Amino acid sequence: MHILLPAGATLVALALAVWGGLRTRQSPSWLAFSAGMLLLAADEALRAALASFAAPAAAFDLERWRLVLAGLRPGVWLLFSLGYARGNAAESFRRWRAAAIAIFALWAAIAAAGWKHLLVAVDARGAEEVAPATPVGPAGLLLQILIVFGLAAALENLERTLRAAVGTMRWRVKFMVIGLGAILVMGIFSAGQALLYSSVSWRAEALNTLALLVGGLTAVVGMERTRRATVDLYPSPGGMRGSLTILVTGLYLVLAGVVAQLSLAVGGIDTMPLKSFLIMVALLAASAVLLSDRVKLWWGEFAMRYLHRPRYDYGRIWRECAEKTGSIVAPARLCREMAELLSTALEALSVTVWRMDGTRGQLALAASTSLPHKDGIAGPVLDAAAARRLAEDAQPFNLEAVPAPWAEALRAAAPATFPHGGDRMAMPLCAGGHLLGVAVVGDRVRGRPFTNEDRRLLRTIGDHLGASLLNLRLSERLLESREMEAFQKMSAFFIHDLKNTASSLSLLLENFRVHSENPAFRQDALKSIEASVTRLRDLIGRLGRLRETPETNKQPCQVAEVVDEALAQIAIPRGVRLLREGAPPPPITADRRQIASVVTNLVLNALQALPPEGGEISVSTATRERQTIIAVRDNGRGMPREFVENSLFHPFRTTKSGGMGIGLFQSRMLVESHGGRIEVESEEGRGSVFRVVFPAAGA
Ligand code: ADP
Repeated sequence: MHILLPAGATLVALALAVWGGLRTRQSPSWLAFSAGMLLLAADEALRAALASFAAPAAAFDLERWRLVLAGLRPGVWLLFSLGYARGNAAESFRRWRAAAIAIFALWAAIAAAGWKHLLVAVDARGAEEVAPATPVGPAGLLLQILIVFGLAAALENLERTLRAAVGTMRWRVKFMVIGLGAILVMGIFSAGQALLYSSVSWRAEALNTLALLVGGLTAVVGMERTRRATVDLYPSPGGMRGSLTILVTGLYLVLAGVVAQLSLAVGGIDTMPLKSFLIMVALLAASAVLLSDRVKLWWGEFAMRYLHRPRYDYGRIWRECAEKTGSIVAPARLCREMAELLSTALEALSVTVWRMDGTRGQLALAASTSLPHKDGIAGPVLDAAAARRLAEDAQPFNLEAVPAPWAEALRAAAPATFPHGGDRMAMPLCAGGHLLGVAVVGDRVRGRPFTNEDRRLLRTIGDHLGASLLNLRLSERLLESREMEAFQKMSAFFIHDLKNTASSLSLLLENFRVHSENPAFRQDALKSIEASVTRLRDLIGRLGRLRETPETNKQPCQVAEVVDEALAQIAIPRGVRLLREGAPPPPITADRRQIASVVTNLVLNALQALPPEGGEISVSTATRERQTIIAVRDNGRGMPREFVENSLFHPFRTTKSGGMGIGLFQSRMLVESHGGRIEVESEEGRGSVFRVVFPAAGA
């Protein structure tokens, strides 16, 4: 075996280890990178040493050390993949902590307990020469399994990071992911080979050296791209579904098994690793091409010129836009998704969305495909005149051509990443004549200038984003004011009760000072205190019931009976005619007390809806299609249609001066907890009918 390649790879890995070590201040994950590279360097150095050793015994020991060190790699690369370019690194570490500890613990256990069984000893094999393949013992096989799964987990995490990146961020991270990916893929590959043939083949292992050289140099490009800029990506933790890594690793393990059996059968084992290596190189090259924005742009232009396709797939962009603005309710997330949409649609790597914070003209960073994402970083301040002009214009403009200080500040806040990225365009995000933010789009692939078509697309998406931001802002305000209104109404009611209780208690206290010796007074005072406590309890109980679903005590009951009992409790004023109609329905399972309280509430409402001179109320019970119905009809003032549709049954909506607007809200809750519903028919000036409908038993 030639010594030059492993020696060269050692140097590359050492250089990367040192470079990574210098970065540890940027992020602790570089420590793992450095350690990973040191492990690779040690591996290559050992291989170089092996290549120059002739004595099988010494070589056997070195091989064993190599295998043990290789077993450390999965854990180390997993740690790196969890932290690299991630804004939520701490969260990723927490999620994977158990797995990482398990990997290191398994490694230690296998290395310590299975030290003798990592490789099959030389005398046991009875072979004289070292290469080309060293048989692996049972502990060695376990270690190879650990390597396959650990490296696949690291690779899967790197893939996740790459998937979360768009625009400039992707440009920065993709070469590191591809380079390191190549090294990890080869690690999985050679561990897979070792598993299949139960031996460490020198030929398969030599491919690791090549991968380290190629991948290491690719990673250098990646490192250079993140040298000065922090990249903060937020990959979603989600499952592994749709992961290319898992798919490819799984396929590889299955296919390699089949191919290995075939080649064993036809005897072509020697050339197989080389073929697999070429396949891997082709896969890597294809992924680099697929990830290249230049290639995408070139294909777009080619298709437009020769296939007469429009530059943009408006249908798709519009669908995506509508889907995002329609389904996302958090402004920060909306901005992020729209920045990514702008970046992919316009092939501009750096898109930054600034949101206007209040009315002072202060811009705050909302999303960016090039700047590390820290929500709400303060940006430049727009003076009132500039903000007004932008809102009036609502057109994309060339940011480079505006000499004003605010434009200068905006340019500095979102600097261009590429020297030849072309002019930056800015699009004011407005709606309803207000400026809600600004989107800055720059760093187009090959610095392509913005055509009219590009501007139109930018404007359309910008307008849409502006309108959605305004919508979100308005609904936020509406919600806040509703909450405030509800709170005020509720507190007014409860404060009234509390005040009454407090004043009766304070009166009592004053009298107590004078009459405390009088036993009759003390007796009375105790009673008053008891009554106050009951009132307070009742108040708390009512407050509590507003939130909870009520507890029900359901038993078979005769609805007609319950209705009669409830009516008997109500004092009917003079001038009001109360009719009791209908036949008694069959018994249903319900909570008597709750049904009675619903009926009482409906009848009281009906009474209050009647004019002072009186009217007619009819309460009927009936069965229709096996449903039990209680209807309360009055010929009172009725309700406007708008009120029935939007306010009835909502808490605190009342038209009465002393009303609280809780009765119907609570009634509906009670009826629904029985699986029933309340139907309403009402006509202004003519009266209303409230129908409580209980479903047929077993329906
Ligand atoms: P409250 O009676 O305390 O106002 P409710 O929830 O029982 O609370 O009723 C809410 C509102 O619905 C009432 O203020 C009234 O405007 C309207 N309403 C309820 N029942 C009737 C009815 N039978 N006729 C007319 N309006 C009604």
